[in-house]
Amino acid sequence: MRAGGGGAVTARAAVTARAAVLRSRTLPFRVEDLTLDGPGPGEALIEVAGTGFCHTDLLPRTDRLGVALPLVAGHEGAGKVLATGPGAHEVSPGDHVVMSFDSCGGCRACLAARPAGCAAFFPRNLSGRRPDGTGTARDAAGEEVAAYWFGQSSFATHAVVPVRSLVPVSAALPLELLGPLGCGFQTGAGAVINSLGVQAGSSVLVAGTGAVGLAAVMAARAVGATVVVAVDILPLRRKLAEELGATHTLDGRSQTLTEEILEITGGADHAVDTTGLPPVITSLVRGLHSEGSCGLVGVQHGDLTVDPLLIASGRTIKGIIEGDAVPRLFVPRLIDLWQQGRFPFDRLIRRYPLAEIDRAEQDMASGEVVKAVLIPT
Ligand SMILES: [Zn+2]
Ligand SMILES: [Zn+2]
Repeated sequence: MRAGGGGAVTARAAVTARAAVLRSRTLPFRVEDLTLDGPGPGEALIEVAGTGFCHTDLLPRTDRLGVALPLVAGHEGAGKVLATGPGAHEVSPGDHVVMSFDSCGGCRACLAARPAGCAAFFPRNLSGRRPDGTGTARDAAGEEVAAYWFGQSSFATHAVVPVRSLVPVSAALPLELLGPLGCGFQTGAGAVINSLGVQAGSSVLVAGTGAVGLAAVMAARAVGATVVVAVDILPLRRKLAEELGATHTLDGRSQTLTEEILEITGGADHAVDTTGLPPVITSLVRGLHSEGSCGLVGVQHGDLTVDPLLIASGRTIKGIIEGDAVPRLFVPRLIDLWQQGRFPFDRLIRRYPLAEIDRAEQDMASGEVVKAVLIPT
């Protein structure tokens, strides 16, 4: 590869990054120093200010997608541009940015401004390598460590990322908190605003009140939904959902969940499932009116069986990735809503030093914290 000319700022020199590396599906993360390539064509080197911990970052702990280890996870980062590679003209050193997911820019979905539907979404975001198959990081022994998870691997002090995935933000904002807007919060809010098109005066069901579900609750209220029913098994989460705008809450373990939903809504306009649990999804779909729509955001656990008559009447069930968002358009909208007090995502965040990533993982698993944000120092 040749360095770009024309006065472009280029910095191909390798940098040392401190990163939380997953070397085993069962053992804790290990914080160690890696040698990270400088930014290549179309890439930027980012100094990470903070990065959210999303349940998707634990997918490499499972065999489900065959993600190769060792790997640096982390895909909800925000930070400062330190250098740009050849042709990376969209950002400049010093810019503050949120890092979102990667997409190709040239497939049917990308051309239609639906990057979450990118034909190359899985290889670009879940392989841990660049689209051309090359790696970006090596450990102290010189062995490759996958460091392109969602095009960013931001559980680290530094990340090399495609500029296409970056969202420039104002330097006046609290940068370390903004990363989750690029995935988890964008997913929940986007499901409501972009995918389902929730309108003022409508009713919305939200199952699972983690970061994604609570973002859906906040977004539903922000766009004027008048009935917002949050479903969760944890009483503390139901209370939090109420504080953030849920008008009603229900226990997800109830054997009469559908009946309770119908009693409140008379048949809901929309539902968002973040649990991935087929019995919960079935209850939501049965709780819709005859033309209601249900969006599936969670990673599915098992097959979903639905009575065809429920669909025949006009109900819709659709899968949703990344809230169907164009991050560079949508993240600034969420920031505007936050500044107006209508999307208080910061209430869900607890900060942890990167070195305490295992404690963050435990607190997330127990439900003790909604959104852990790791601060690399
Ligand atoms: Zn694409
Ligand atoms: Zn995520």
